[in-house]
Amino acid sequence: MIFTSFNPPQRTLMGPGPSDIYPRVLQAQSRPTVGHLDPLFIGMMDEVKQLLQYAFQTENPVTMAVSAPGSAGMETCFVNLLEPGEKVIVCRNGVFGDRMRENVERCGATAVVVDDEWGKPVDPEKVEQALKANPDASVLAFVHAETSTGALSDAKTLAELARKYGCLTIVDTVTSLGGVPLLVDEWQLDAVYSGSQKCLSCVPGLSPVTFSEKAVERIKNRKSKVQSWFLDQSLVLGYWSGEGKRSYHHTAPVNALYALHESLVLLHNEGLENAWQRHRDAHEQLKAGLEKLGLSFVVDEPYRLPQLNAVYIPDGVDDAAVRTRLLNDYNLEIGAGLGALAGKAWRIGLMGYGARRENVSLCLRALEETIR
Ligand SMILES: *Cc1c(COP(=O)(O)O)cnc(C)c1O
Repeated sequence: MIFTSFNPPQRTLMGPGPSDIYPRVLQAQSRPTVGHLDPLFIGMMDEVKQLLQYAFQTENPVTMAVSAPGSAGMETCFVNLLEPGEKVIVCRNGVFGDRMRENVERCGATAVVVDDEWGKPVDPEKVEQALKANPDASVLAFVHAETSTGALSDAKTLAELARKYGCLTIVDTVTSLGGVPLLVDEWQLDAVYSGSQKCLSCVPGLSPVTFSEKAVERIKNRKSKVQSWFLDQSLVLGYWSGEGKRSYHHTAPVNALYALHESLVLLHNEGLENAWQRHRDAHEQLKAGLEKLGLSFVVDEPYRLPQLNAVYIPDGVDDAAVRTRLLNDYNLEIGAGLGALAGKAWRIGLMGYGARRENVSLCLRALEETIR
């Protein structure tokens, strides 16, 4: 058996992530690897932190990238903030809310689940009832942008409620960061995690996180050790913010961090507002075309994420056959339905570099020719 290099085709990625990567990001990743304690690399990590503060719109000193995908950012927030026996209100309106519940339970804490229908945003009234009924809850956890359905929840209002009832917030912004407004400081969110491969259009495998002062206080005052050594923020912090005297914790994914740096430079150069507008413009173009094809959206207009468009599969159309033809004939990937929407909906991503006119046109043409 002779093995040769793997040469992937050039696909157009319009699913729920990974998104199309900026060519400049791929180039950045192939630059020479330096030592992860090299002073030049440490200087770059400081810039990554500043750029992440910009992307999250925060001045939180504890802002960094976890060396693993978004799921690890999620786990980082839960294992650091929670101690066994605590009670957490978890909002569940899709797949990722349920993963939050799973994380809570694995921390030895109790999850009080507030359910909303798939495709609907989290209902603040139900959340307030749950907060009222559970005065011993210490955290409210919710997903800002539910990628399984394409619904956007009102993070500002949910965080206000959490504060009113003395809870910290854990917020999933994996799909929202860089795609829709996310104002960590203004909305006073506490433990926030995201991912590199959605609207940042960076390679998969890194998870930006940021912690408010209150979250850091909570972590410092823990009675028990964080059960995960790798994700324990008090240990990782010595690595990310050792002020020139960084100590070894783990080997940073050096080249992946070059890629993240480049994607954040691109976002900063474009400007957050412009990036948000570009996602909205691409969404409007897609929406007009999809409606012409007779496809309807899962999520009601006011809560629709521009970067994740869930549309019902028309009657009589073979879900898998269409997606296979898009992949084989057009090199185009769109997302299948997940969980309750499996087989019922497609998820068309317009994330980061993918939120462009030519992508939307390709997708509409391919869908039209394939469905016909
Ligand atoms: C993609 C996603 C995750 C998980 O990120 P991975 O990088 O796949 O681990 C978590 N939450 C949401 C809302 C996501 O869209």
